Amino acid sequence: MSATVADLCAAAFGESLAPEPLLTVSSWADEFRLLSSTASSEPGRWRTARTPYLRDIMDCLSPSHPAERVVVMSGAQIGKTECGNNWIGYVIHRSPGPMLMVQPTVEIAKRVSKQRIAPMIAATPVLRERVAESRSRDSGNTVQVKEFEGGLLIITGANSGAGLRSMPIRFLFMDEVDEYPGDVDGQGDPVALAEKRTATFARRKVFLTSTPTIKGLSRIEREYLESDQRRFFLGCPECGHPDYLVWRDVGHHRIEWEEGSPKTAHMVCSGCGTRIDERYKTEMLEAGEWRPTAQGDGHTVGFHLSALYSPLGWKSWAQCASEFVRVKEDPFRLKTWVNTVLGETWEERGDSVEAGSLMARLEKFPAEVPTGVGVLVAAVDVQGDRLEAVVKGYGAGEESWLVAFTQLHGDPARESVWHDLDRFLAQSFEHESGQKLKVECAVVDSGGAHTEHVYRYCKARQGRRVFPVKGGTIAGRPLVERPSTHNRYRVKLFVLCVDTGKDSVFSRLRIPAAGPGYLHLPDWVDEEYLAQLTAEKAIRKYVKGRGAVREWVKLRERNEALDLEVYALAALHILGPTFVRGLGERAAQFARPVAEAATQTEEQPRPVMRRPGGWIPRRTGWVNGWRS
Ligand SMILES: [Zn+2]
Repeated sequence: MSATVADLCAAAFGESLAPEPLLTVSSWADEFRLLSSTASSEPGRWRTARTPYLRDIMDCLSPSHPAERVVVMSGAQIGKTECGNNWIGYVIHRSPGPMLMVQPTVEIAKRVSKQRIAPMIAATPVLRERVAESRSRDSGNTVQVKEFEGGLLIITGANSGAGLRSMPIRFLFMDEVDEYPGDVDGQGDPVALAEKRTATFARRKVFLTSTPTIKGLSRIEREYLESDQRRFFLGCPECGHPDYLVWRDVGHHRIEWEEGSPKTAHMVCSGCGTRIDERYKTEMLEAGEWRPTAQGDGHTVGFHLSALYSPLGWKSWAQCASEFVRVKEDPFRLKTWVNTVLGETWEERGDSVEAGSLMARLEKFPAEVPTGVGVLVAAVDVQGDRLEAVVKGYGAGEESWLVAFTQLHGDPARESVWHDLDRFLAQSFEHESGQKLKVECAVVDSGGAHTEHVYRYCKARQGRRVFPVKGGTIAGRPLVERPSTHNRYRVKLFVLCVDTGKDSVFSRLRIPAAGPGYLHLPDWVDEEYLAQLTAEKAIRKYVKGRGAVREWVKLRERNEALDLEVYALAALHILGPTFVRGLGERAAQFARPVAEAATQTEEQPRPVMRRPGGWIPRRTGWVNGWRS
């Protein structure tokens, strides 16, 4: 049962001359694949008929199909990864050989292995018979390696050079390629590195899938554009005219809804203009077919799929439309929607913002905390001779207000500046309604020279939601992901995708009027603050073997205000998506007037500018309780 890696390599080099099995991957899945209740929302027998658009994709992965490279650019949760999983099952059962599955990181790879691959093997008898249980010691079945007769499956991350260089590979499955790092261990593009492993096999297969990201930089888009660019054509139930389905471009089948009522979303036929309700989708999908829309390079088959093709019971057109209405004014969230629902790339408008253009939009807030704010969060940057901190308020749609900014001078290696920070974070801020608000989550940059101090400070204050953060190097990930506690103090550390944060800040600085995503800046900020906030610019850089990558570069030395803006957004996201969605309701609660507000007559000093060097922290309202 358990062949050694060396045996397998030997077998691999002397590639079998036996004819390929004729069974297709989709027929295999229909006959053998069982979905477990742990990994699937629709457990039981796999039915390709449920998602007819997946049939051709899977069948291109069949050994008897001539396609060498198969590319799927799509929205999220439309089933593309299941195609890959069925292919893995097929290889184990019917076409054994060395196979490599690559996820964006090793950590994600391990998670996919445990939550997707292991349950598939356990639930499907013909796979269970061929892959030993992982319980026995020498079973050849670990989280990252699954041995089976005649082959093995290695599951690794695109951030592991060692994992990608392992051995000759006949079947290569690269999932979510737009999230791969641009360079792995200084050896170049992980996709090119992994594909090199397949060079010794004449009958190799490479399967690349991803939700796309930014236009001109997206790997999956580049691969799709080199392919024959297939689209899934649906016949109109009214006139029979076949076309593919897009969002709103006239010229193809498109989605429309009655003004102000996204739940009325329906398709409009590009042939006869008839309104087609979503209930016709099942029959349209059954009769649909993939058609190439380009010549291609001759060996790459490419598929494009949006969530608009989701079968009934999954994401509906009405849901797509109401999500669109919610995010359309905020470029940052609209980008995510375009990528994950339409499966299309996002075109960035401009890569920098002029500080001067922000001067004109400074506003005098009616109180420290204006109506609209649903939570206060804080962010702290650690410099060699000082701490800099902001307090920001966020409301519905992540509209935000800069509430306070301070510079606390002192050596971060000594205690006293941290006591000043305690006082700053413990203040309460007065809302327009008279209510007093406090900071509910704070993050401190731990990436500099004072990591230990930051960890210790945060560890003692974790109960008050004070967390260390650190900038990460992998681009294209969400701003905040699950924290790790792998550090000496076992403190929850959040690694941030800083590029994502900067994209958000810059796209939001371009929003022209108050509303979702808008950044309100108070009249007390000065030119230096605005210059820091706009201190970087996204550039396109060309990397050998990878093409264009996007990178943020500093236009001036000092950029603390921009870092603080990114960290504050991270502090908000640490509170979780459910909390963020509820900000509108919280804002309404804070806006309720306090009856006893009239009795508070004490003069509260506003943050006052002191030139040069920042703002004097508030002198009243300091609460020592924060320190205890
Ligand atoms: Zn029609």
